[in-house]
Amino acid sequence: MKRDLILLFLYVFHLFSLSDVHGGQLRPGDTTKTRRTKVLILGAGVAGLVAAKTLQENGINDFLILEAQDYIGGRFKQRSFAGVKLEEGANWIHYADDEQNPLWELKKKHNLRGIYTNYSDIIIRNEKGQDTTDRKVLKEFAEAEGKLMALQELKSKDQRPDMSVRAALSSVGWTPDTPAKSVIEYSVMDFEFAERPKMESLMGFESRSLDFFVADPRGYGSIFLKMANNFRDRILLNKIVKHVSYTRYGIRVTTVDGETFNADYGLCTFSTSVLASDSVMFSPKLPQWKMEAINKVPLAYYTKIFIKFPYKFWDSHEFILYAHRIRGHYPIWMDIEARDILPGSAILHVTVTGEMSLKVEGQSDSETLKEIMTELRNVYGSNIPNAQGIFYSRWSKNPFTRGSYSNAEVGTTKADFHNLAGKLGKLFFAGDSFDFDWWGFAQGAYFTGERKATEIVQCIKGNCEVFWPKGNVVQEVYINP
Ligand SMILES: Cc1cc2nc3c(=O)[nH]c(=O)nc-3n(C[C@H](O)[C@H](O)[C@H](O)COP(=O)(O)OP(=O)(O)OC[C@H]3O[C@@H](n4cnc5c(N)ncnc54)[C@H](O)[C@@H]3O)c2cc1C
Repeated sequence: MKRDLILLFLYVFHLFSLSDVHGGQLRPGDTTKTRRTKVLILGAGVAGLVAAKTLQENGINDFLILEAQDYIGGRFKQRSFAGVKLEEGANWIHYADDEQNPLWELKKKHNLRGIYTNYSDIIIRNEKGQDTTDRKVLKEFAEAEGKLMALQELKSKDQRPDMSVRAALSSVGWTPDTPAKSVIEYSVMDFEFAERPKMESLMGFESRSLDFFVADPRGYGSIFLKMANNFRDRILLNKIVKHVSYTRYGIRVTTVDGETFNADYGLCTFSTSVLASDSVMFSPKLPQWKMEAINKVPLAYYTKIFIKFPYKFWDSHEFILYAHRIRGHYPIWMDIEARDILPGSAILHVTVTGEMSLKVEGQSDSETLKEIMTELRNVYGSNIPNAQGIFYSRWSKNPFTRGSYSNAEVGTTKADFHNLAGKLGKLFFAGDSFDFDWWGFAQGAYFTGERKATEIVQCIKGNCEVFWPKGNVVQEVYINP
């Protein structure tokens, strides 16, 4: 009798725990310490949001999204500064006008305001402020770029090993032996890839696309916020994931505030640089072949600095290239008043990348402003007005991004991307670094979020694809699907 009572008690307890946490019964506001859901999405950036949308479109509503920060959108973020709205993160729709580009489709759907960037609208100024724009040199670089593309095509056809963009540029006869040549090269290479040509893979190099600069008071990220309206109650903000364990049966996640989440499937959308850090613990540890791929496609550094002046005193060109003797020293100044991007704003937009980015993000606003003012006075004279304010995000210091956007290092192969995107047991991966064709672009995050959610849907239906890592890899701690 006593034994029966104990069994009855255990059974009722079991029913309670199931009803509390399962499927449609799940309430995101619950204060219970353990919750259960079918699919747990880690991260509410583009990849996570598109994955949620895809699950919903396939009739799966039993999911939750855990997001460490207090907002939705990840590296899409808008902020008010000096009376205008500015994008702290992504700003351009690359490959605009392409019907296959989902961002372009969303732009059209929501009628996002902005302009097509005119990269030829430039002036080059040296440290004395002289105009050193030389159309012949610009043409020379454009030709070198064309040859680079041809070389890349040849190498990929013959399956020859990768090389750095610097080595490739040298072999097509381009030598950046003057500050003006250096800054021209920088404006195409580093400005796009946020990495020095020496570190940049020829395999990953792409010529400039048609780019659309979003300048909309609603924010570039509003297209994703609209998307999230359909599942806003399934997104838990300020939930910092600290531990993820995965098996062939499901995943278990614990957050810094002590909650545990159990799920049949997990989709991790953290950046490769977050995964490479020790901020999130995985059990078992991520295998060597996965870590190798993660480390080959880290986030590069790209810093957007906005400076407010009482009035505009700089050149009316979309791009002012600063030919300083040190390559990458505050090299790109954008006139965001040009062509009505932000008319009357009197804000100068300065971009730095790579090592300079790390330096700038590691120092105070006033140190950065002082350095930039010195260069502006060199160019435009000592009578220019003092700045009224400066603002920039420090993406490299943000523990939930640890950089700006991904960049494949020299020698990264298609097999590395295969391994990056591969699942471990029931844990899937998505994000801008995880797509062979679109790494570093927001559409990479979009496509992988969609693709991985579709794979999860297939798994739920009983058609789980088997994944095996490629290349010369040690197959330790590999969990069969
Ligand atoms: C300065 C800058 C400029 C850019 N410019 C462009 C551009 O012009 N065009 C373009 O196409 N792309 C651009 N990008 C890149 C683009 O923003 C990204 O490719 C895209 O936003 C990546 O989306 P994601 O979902 O993969 O990653 P994220 O947006 O990084 O999403 C991952 C989410 O996971 C969360 N997270 C991380 N760790 C944890 C944790 N421990 N617990 C819980 N949650 C966690 C993060 O907070 C984040 O919200 C730019 C990025 C930056 C920073």
